[in-house]
Amino acid sequence: MSGETEFLLAVEGLTVSFDGFKAVDDLSFYVDENEIRVIIGPNGAGKTTVLDLICGRTRATAGSVKFRNTELTTMKEHAIVRAGVGRKFQNPSIYEDLTVFENLEISFPRGRSVLGALTFRRSGEVRDRVEEVARTIFLHDHLAMRAEYLSHGQKQWLEIGMLLIQDPALMMLDEPVAGMSVAERKKTAELLHRIIQGRSVLVIEHDMGFVEDIAHKVTVLHQGRVIAEGSMEKVQQDPKVIEVYLGH
Ligand code: ADP
Ligand code: MG
Repeated sequence: MSGETEFLLAVEGLTVSFDGFKAVDDLSFYVDENEIRVIIGPNGAGKTTVLDLICGRTRATAGSVKFRNTELTTMKEHAIVRAGVGRKFQNPSIYEDLTVFENLEISFPRGRSVLGALTFRRSGEVRDRVEEVARTIFLHDHLAMRAEYLSHGQKQWLEIGMLLIQDPALMMLDEPVAGMSVAERKKTAELLHRIIQGRSVLVIEHDMGFVEDIAHKVTVLHQGRVIAEGSMEKVQQDPKVIEVYLGH
């Protein structure tokens, strides 16, 4: 297929077949550096499966996923994480009995600090980073709180923070504002705009107000294929999109 690409993520001809059913069917799309891309589409369109394919949880039947020109479809899940792709699932997987600080601390990538540095310097580095991330996710005043006492929205932010502390170049979020209040959704949009310095975010979402707030570009999936792509304004007016998704 293609050679070198300028894109952060280049998905080409991606296909997965489950017992003959193509959940993702010859899919191609391209994500720029520092872009927030949102994938929308009806239930069963294949959105979550696309993230599963990118992060190596599901093996592609055909096609290619290039992340900064590295082919991901043949790599193992943990190697894909190490290459800089972070994924948040629909249900938050935080440690309820640990504090916010501890949840962030254990997510800090080990072996990243300079070898030979004094232990107190290393832990200082981790603490600074934990505090920086906590500020970004609006939890700086909750560092000592056990995660079980956070609101649903705060738990979602904490999980985003646990990804953020690993500094992925591509962060993938599956329905991050589901179950959040209107105020929490607004803050989540602000959070995403803050964190794209030096990275891109790929988001699946149904809340059109939120999508409008965050998306640089929208890709509309239906039956495992792209039926429209472009600005929110453009795809909203697309008759195919209205017919299969927005009209419902
Ligand atoms: P969406 O996230 O857009 O709602 P999914 O990606 O979850 O859709 O699912 C797309 C289709 O693929 C659905 O019909 C679903 O039942 C099917 N599917 C997803 N994962 C598997 C799997 N591991 N085995 C069989 N079918 C699957
Ligand atoms: Mg889904």
